[in-house]
Amino acid sequence: MNGTLNSDTLTARDRAGWERSAAALKIEGRAFINGRHVGALSGRSFDDVSPINGKVIGQIARCETADIDTAVAAARATFESGTWRRMEPRQRKRVLLRFAELIRADVERLALLETLDVGKPVLNSIQVDVASCADCIAYYAEFADKLSDEIAPTGPHDLALVRREPLGVIGAIVPWNYPLIISAWKIGPALLAGNSVVLKPAEQSPLGGIRLAELALEAGLPPGVLNVVPGFGEEAGKALALHSDVDMISFTGSTEVGKLMMRYAGESNLKRVALELGGKSPHVVMADADLAEAASAIAWGIYYNAGETCHAGSRLIVHEQVREQLIDMIERVAKTITLGHPFDPVTQMGALIDSGHLKRVLGYIDSGVAEGARVAFGGKQAMQDTGGYYVEATVLDAVRPQMRVSREEIFGPVLTVSGFRDAADALRVANDTVYGLAAAVWTRDMNVAHRVSGALRAGTVWVNSFDRSSLATPFGGFKQSGFGRDRSAHAIDKYVDLKTIWTAFR
Ligand code: NAD
Repeated sequence: MNGTLNSDTLTARDRAGWERSAAALKIEGRAFINGRHVGALSGRSFDDVSPINGKVIGQIARCETADIDTAVAAARATFESGTWRRMEPRQRKRVLLRFAELIRADVERLALLETLDVGKPVLNSIQVDVASCADCIAYYAEFADKLSDEIAPTGPHDLALVRREPLGVIGAIVPWNYPLIISAWKIGPALLAGNSVVLKPAEQSPLGGIRLAELALEAGLPPGVLNVVPGFGEEAGKALALHSDVDMISFTGSTEVGKLMMRYAGESNLKRVALELGGKSPHVVMADADLAEAASAIAWGIYYNAGETCHAGSRLIVHEQVREQLIDMIERVAKTITLGHPFDPVTQMGALIDSGHLKRVLGYIDSGVAEGARVAFGGKQAMQDTGGYYVEATVLDAVRPQMRVSREEIFGPVLTVSGFRDAADALRVANDTVYGLAAAVWTRDMNVAHRVSGALRAGTVWVNSFDRSSLATPFGGFKQSGFGRDRSAHAIDKYVDLKTIWTAFR
């Protein structure tokens, strides 16, 4: 595996080339605790199945309570020793920047692991997932020697320092849709702040997280500061969230499991909880919108990553005057998005994560039709001969707001469409959801844009655009999409406590 290849060489590689690299890859499925690989204490493991073809690609350590205890003890010991949190800020920055460089240099292996594990197109893994993961670590590294604490404005005889202190041991529990990126969103600010971390990747996608821990150690992060413990949610995840020596759980995943996190915190040590949860993001399209722009952004906003994106624009709420025209235009864009084998460089939409999820997505399409929706295009499983889990880009039209497909997160390449005649109605339907992760409004009238974007209840609202983002903007939800923000300087606040040190002078 040549980690020095640049991404131009990689993007030119054909499917056979990627298949050869995948065949030569050694899959490391053991946990990474205190700077070394270890199997589960029970000796048990489970199959890692690739959604590309349904084949087993490796064995993963099935970690449980005892393994979590070991990882948390290692994280606690390094935290108390101060080897990381008391390291000179400039030196901490160097270590984190080196970590980011090693991620970039390892793009070939990391992209392969990500694509094998989750079935996304390998070019996306290279250009988006690995690149954004490295950028995120580098972004937070830069704060290490720039973030100052405060001196409060007190009287002349007092000095009140307001200091940020790391919380201690952070449990990071992440989902399978963007394993590298979401791990970095948590590891970056948590490490920058001086914490130690125990990362629990999703059982479907453990490989990237394990590799990140190896690279962090190579970059100079002291052993025990970043530990990775693979396993099932009900076992490893639950043990981590219930652990009384974990100071905070930073969770990304479903709203259902997010609610459990709060329960586990209450049942254990009242640890802090930050939640990034599900979404059902609406596009509100007014009759005067630039439909060509909107059609492209709407199609990519639901079909990118096969719709397995928390903020995917999954509900189209469109003025009746332009509804049919817009659906036609979305279909034209969708036809240009190539569904295919994830190692094929022309592929833009790959597999769904596993067979259970495939059934779930197809079941939602059936339920929509049973409740009276119409399949405008797509709607079927594809590429069955591969043994993998592929679904066509789909639009369900004539969806009423009370239907299940309009209310529940499908997490697949399925866009629901409902029409409106009155803008106030559109806004009411857009906000009539338990979720509040993201939303978009499309109109040429900036007065309408201003009013509607202000009234949409979501953590991010795009105006005449969709899915544009930067590490400098906070990301997270309103309502049952969670609380706490990933990305930007605001994310750092989650991983620190404020301490006031007050000194009185005579
Ligand atoms: P999930 O909630 O099933 O699992 C997420 C993580 O929690 C996994 O690591 C899993 O092993 C663990 N887990 C499951 N049950 C657990 C339990 N009882 N105790 C402790 N841990 C447990 O979610 P998923 O299916 O992996 O991911 C898809 C969901 O994630 C979608 O709802 C999506 O919207 C959401 N998501 C949100 C964001 C965001 O930033 N808001 C980003 C990506 C994904």
